[in-house]
Amino acid sequence: MSMAPVIAIDGPTASGKGTIAQAVARELGFGCLDSGALYRVVALLALRRRIDTGDALRLAQVARSAHPLFERGRVELDGEDVTEAIRAEEVGRAASHVSAHAAVRDELLQLQRSFRRWPGLVADGRDMGTVVFPDARLKVFLTASVEVRAQRRLKQLMEKGISASLADLLLDLCERDKRDRTRPVAPLKAADDAYELDASSLTVDEVVGQVLAWYRTVSQVQ
Ligand code: C5P
Repeated sequence: MSMAPVIAIDGPTASGKGTIAQAVARELGFGCLDSGALYRVVALLALRRRIDTGDALRLAQVARSAHPLFERGRVELDGEDVTEAIRAEEVGRAASHVSAHAAVRDELLQLQRSFRRWPGLVADGRDMGTVVFPDARLKVFLTASVEVRAQRRLKQLMEKGISASLADLLLDLCERDKRDRTRPVAPLKAADDAYELDASSLTVDEVVGQVLAWYRTVSQVQ
């Protein structure tokens, strides 16, 4: 039997990948993999255990022994609900350091691939189309201007009652993007066969509609 189809959605921080991936998965009845959550789980454990984000060996051990459970939009770790904890800005920043180590990425590779099940999977991250699922049926590279992404982050934080300044968020996003794009292993970049979409002035429904239209087109060709 052939492998279940995958839709890979990659792009920079706060480009809206997660929201789009969930909506597309819902439309198609597919499963969803938020690969960033895995790096965030490793980062959360590293922060709690005071492991240096440069210590590749210990971080890889953490990645190997972590068994997060994903169920109904929640993330559970050893019986603890860490859904909110892994979304903290501090954890996101640490995740971007932790994920730069090849040893950590290797440890998480099989775990990510194990999410591929029928009827299909929508996977979002930085290297879904380039490394984890190079045979994805559809690859989308979703971008948005850094201003739009910083505004979106600000809104998300305000909704959670967390105050932040737009200038700080802009700076943080730029630094994180630079780190993700310039790292030697699995850098953030569009796959050669990816469909690129700038979502700066599009609504969520418009982006979801475009991804579904592309998916229908590539499915007919196959
Ligand atoms: O997407 P999210 O912001 O949750 O990802 C957190 C961090 O994890 C990113 O800044 C990135 O460095 C890393 N990441 C990655 N590869 C992925 C997904 C996330 O390196 N596939």
